[in-house]
Amino acid sequence: MSHSRIEPRRVAVVGAGLAGLACARALAAAGAVATLFDKGRAAGGRLATRRGEGGQYDHGAQYLTARGPGFAAALAAAGAAPWGGAGRWVGTPGMSALPRALAAGLDLRAARHVGSLAGGPGAWRLRHWDAALVRPGRPLPGIAPEEDGPFDAVALALPPAQAAPLVAAHAPGLPPRLAAVRIAPCWTVMLGFAARLPLPDSLRPGTGPIGWAARDSSKPGRDAGRECWVVQAGPDWSRAWLEAAPAAVIPPLLQALADLAGGPLPALDHAAAHRWRYSLVEAPLGQPCLWDPASRLGLAGDWCLGGRAEAAFDSGEALAAALLG
Ligand SMILES: Cc1cc2nc3c(=O)[nH]c(=O)nc-3n(C[C@H](O)[C@H](O)[C@H](O)COP(=O)(O)OP(=O)(O)OC[C@H]3O[C@@H](n4cnc5c(N)ncnc54)[C@H](O)[C@@H]3O)c2cc1C
Repeated sequence: MSHSRIEPRRVAVVGAGLAGLACARALAAAGAVATLFDKGRAAGGRLATRRGEGGQYDHGAQYLTARGPGFAAALAAAGAAPWGGAGRWVGTPGMSALPRALAAGLDLRAARHVGSLAGGPGAWRLRHWDAALVRPGRPLPGIAPEEDGPFDAVALALPPAQAAPLVAAHAPGLPPRLAAVRIAPCWTVMLGFAARLPLPDSLRPGTGPIGWAARDSSKPGRDAGRECWVVQAGPDWSRAWLEAAPAAVIPPLLQALADLAGGPLPALDHAAAHRWRYSLVEAPLGQPCLWDPASRLGLAGDWCLGGRAEAAFDSGEALAAALLG
């Protein structure tokens, strides 16, 4: 008697932000073999924490909210702690602890920039380079990439501008679907002060360059002996200053913070700036994910549903369900 063995499906998930993590977890829970690729040094994407001598800063998402039970359960399992008001959650000791916990047990290839797909449906191959060698907006490095595969399907959990070039040659119907999606940039500065600022732990001014500012050191599990602030410019200001040098955006945002504090600020012991080209979704796709059954390529991310971390999580789960269905 012969026994036929059904092989588990192998799926590549590109992008280990919240959408990619949710997708890979749902695939694994359904018995598929998911391999995650991310150009970052660890999972997380825009759920990010920067640590150094100048202190610790969540320079991406500030706090997360959960409307649905799935994301609430994932946050609880990842050890999220309350901060800043009812229903607001943060990672401890930093926001990046949440994606690290969600990535536990998953097969993650970190610091790999996926530059192209080869093969086809049922037998996709991913070509990826050492992310340290890839410069944004420049041609891929001249050295041979590493290749992984074959994969039955590929889930791209990336912002649209990064996903479109990867799928254009293989699923030409997908990129036009992304045309109306709009994501705002965000200049973020991380500031350490020698003394406490006369401001509440978080503020959303409503006018002026600053969209949001928060005393990051007031979050649970941080070094409360330091005075660490994260200041995010609003979308209009960030667009106007998009191509400025990082050092150039610090003085005007510092001055805007001083204006909010109503006077000169204490001595500064740390200042750094980070530009997010893609931060909060302004015009979403309006459906949970895009899945092309003919090519077995799918797209997910917060941009499908809206500018919240939970939208990324829901989108990733939706793509896993579409892919398995
Ligand atoms: C400044 C800022 C503040 C925010 N504040 C909040 C907030 O307070 N509350 C909230 O709910 N949400 C907030 N958000 C939004 C939230 O962070 C996002 O909605 C969510 O993290 C998006 O997850 P994602 O998986 O869709 O995308 P991402 O987190 O962007 O993940 C995409 C991943 O793809 C990787 N990648 C890209 N291209 C490649 C490639 N070619 N090869 C390999 N890997 C690649 C990237 O490294 C990244 O890890 C904020 C975002 C920013 C930037």
